Amino acid sequence: MHSNLSTVSYIGATILFILSLGGLSNPASSRRGNLFGMIGMGIAVLATVFGTHVSAAGIPWIVGAMVLGGAIGVFAARTVQMTQMPELVALMHSLVGLAAALVGFASYLDTSTVFASVAEKSIHEVEIYVGILIGVVTFAGSLIAFGKLNGKIGGKPLLLPARHFLNLILLLVAIGFGYQFLHAETMNAGLVALAVLTVVSILFGIHMVMAIGGADMPVVVSMLNSYSGWAAAATGFMLSNDLLIVVGALVGSSGAILSYIMCRAMNRNFLSVIAGGFGGGAKPAATIGDAAVPQGEVVAITSADTAELLREAKSVIIVPGYGMAVAQAQHTVYEITKTLREKGVNVRFGIHPVAGRMPGHMNVLLAEAKVPYDIVMEMDELNDDFPDTDVTMVIGANDIVNPSAQDDPASPIAGMPVLEVWKAKTSIVMKRSMASGYAGVDNPLFYKDNNRMLFGDAKKMLDEVLVALKS
Ligand code: NDP
Repeated sequence: MHSNLSTVSYIGATILFILSLGGLSNPASSRRGNLFGMIGMGIAVLATVFGTHVSAAGIPWIVGAMVLGGAIGVFAARTVQMTQMPELVALMHSLVGLAAALVGFASYLDTSTVFASVAEKSIHEVEIYVGILIGVVTFAGSLIAFGKLNGKIGGKPLLLPARHFLNLILLLVAIGFGYQFLHAETMNAGLVALAVLTVVSILFGIHMVMAIGGADMPVVVSMLNSYSGWAAAATGFMLSNDLLIVVGALVGSSGAILSYIMCRAMNRNFLSVIAGGFGGGAKPAATIGDAAVPQGEVVAITSADTAELLREAKSVIIVPGYGMAVAQAQHTVYEITKTLREKGVNVRFGIHPVAGRMPGHMNVLLAEAKVPYDIVMEMDELNDDFPDTDVTMVIGANDIVNPSAQDDPASPIAGMPVLEVWKAKTSIVMKRSMASGYAGVDNPLFYKDNNRMLFGDAKKMLDEVLVALKS
């Protein structure tokens, strides 16, 4: 491909990626945003494979790798459960980090590049060193995040004694061996420095994510998303690929903005989250799904009585959480919504920024069920309306409706803004047991006088409510 055509393709792809990010900022335009992103990526891959940097001999290798990688990707996307999506995303981030690190090693071992000056060679080596550092930290951190998200690793923060000091030592070792790397006389000496950097980065990545408590995982997920972008940008520098630098910077900066938004949503200081130790709190966070110690009496309700309350209500707010994703109850939720709206009930959805297990989790599920966007509201838009609401229906949500975030300064989720569902005339919580949510804390909402518990799988219970509503 002629280099001018390649440049034009790269500019076109860059514009499409920017339009894609713009589209993804709103549920109504997100499909279009995805489409722009897919077309942009298609153009980017073709322009790179047939561009000036790839020799004809390399094409069969690339096509082979694309077929293999594409097949694995299609298989993973088709078989993954919606509830496993966050883990899949964490795993994908780890692959971006691994790729950046491998490209770093390959660039160093590739002796074919001729540098015009010593300075140019040093800059390239700095790119390699930093690229491997970011790549390996992203790789190791994402694997730990994967373990924490699927519950294989506990949510409690690992607080080693003098952990900040340990991090400082790791940083100094990385800087020291960076100096050795830049002054290495032989390739072997350079490889030793890179090997030490890899070990140090693995330790740092593991320690960084292990030190973050379960309740702060949303920030970690978006932060690793950001790191994967910077890892891709570093790869772009190593390969002198402008598009990869631009795309990496777009992902890196949008991930950083998302992390900031998540921190604000959880009333956390970004630097404190990164420094670790948050999210465990004074009371130890239990393992996900542990039965919390009962703090009072709860009043159970039947599906038929729930339907009766809904039928008599003028305004209803539905608050979905992770359990709705587990139960795949979104379609039934929408059927109930339609039925109630036909009866003139004002039904709205309240979405907490960290509901579920990944940013936008609930929006994706509700969009899949074709719930109109205009009745899906953000927490801030709706929190003042609860006192004027007849019934709030909490579907498989727990931490995001926990009043102890406001009332108990010792709670691991203290300070996190929550949906104030208990201020409605009646709140109904739909879940299978008295088990705690992701943060592992008891929920005083369950014991409030105006709260009712509808125990059972959310899909099963909602199916029953729908039948009762229609009868
Ligand atoms: P929670 O994890 O707090 O609670 C979910 C509840 O759903 C559980 O208590 C569980 O209770 C119930 N549940 C599970 N399966 C079913 C089912 N089949 N039917 C009915 N109920 C079910 O979820 P929330 O959405 O309220 O809060 C999200 C939590 O996840 C926050 O702590 C957040 O910090 C964290 N997090 C969020 C991320 C994000 O990016 N959004 C990323 C990582 C973590 P039971 O077992 O009794 O049914």
